[in-house]
Amino acid sequence: MRVLIVEDELRMAGLIRRGLTNEGLAADVAATGEDALWMAQAHEYDAIVLDVMLPGLTGFDTCRRLRKEGIWAPVLMLTARDSVEDRVAGLDTGADDYLVKPFAFAELLARLRALARRGELERPSVLEVGDLRLDPATREVWRGAAEIRLSAKEFALLETFMRRPGEVLSRLHLLEHAWDFTYDNRSNVVDVYVRRLRLKIDEPFGRRTLETIRGGGYRLRRDRER
Ligand code: CA
Repeated sequence: MRVLIVEDELRMAGLIRRGLTNEGLAADVAATGEDALWMAQAHEYDAIVLDVMLPGLTGFDTCRRLRKEGIWAPVLMLTARDSVEDRVAGLDTGADDYLVKPFAFAELLARLRALARRGELERPSVLEVGDLRLDPATREVWRGAAEIRLSAKEFALLETFMRRPGEVLSRLHLLEHAWDFTYDNRSNVVDVYVRRLRLKIDEPFGRRTLETIRGGGYRLRRDRER
């Protein structure tokens, strides 16, 4: 098992590295996010330990860039700040787990092993269907280069479609994934929001990707055809 440690504080990086090599793991150290990016491209790591506080690219930026470059090694983020916002931000950028500094080395090791067991899995943090892109972290949506502004509910509905591209989704499925329990199943709220979504993601671009399937529900086509 080979691990990349991304940490600018040399003492901390050295401690982690020594601890890992004592356990029989291989470990490399990158002092900046920029170094981590090229090292992770040059070698397929089994896991990456990524400090949030880095000069230049932060740990968040680095994680986002790694995922964007198609590098899906499990990322364990180290944060000095025990704030919910930081943890959520870390996970939203594509990190798999986090550890708050200061931590017990045994815990770092246990979490790394668990992550490596889970292995590399394609989990894009930005959803893409054709030229439609949706970023759950920043809550932004684009069709090609054009940014699309959606209400919170329109966003939730589109995200539901984009997580199951090409599949026919029933109104019930859409209700269960994009609405809470205050709506009853007979309501036509889904149809209303699908129409609103079409007005924003399809019609201005001359597309018809959000299809009505008679008797079935709706489907977001994955192709780029007009
Ligand atoms: Ca640091």
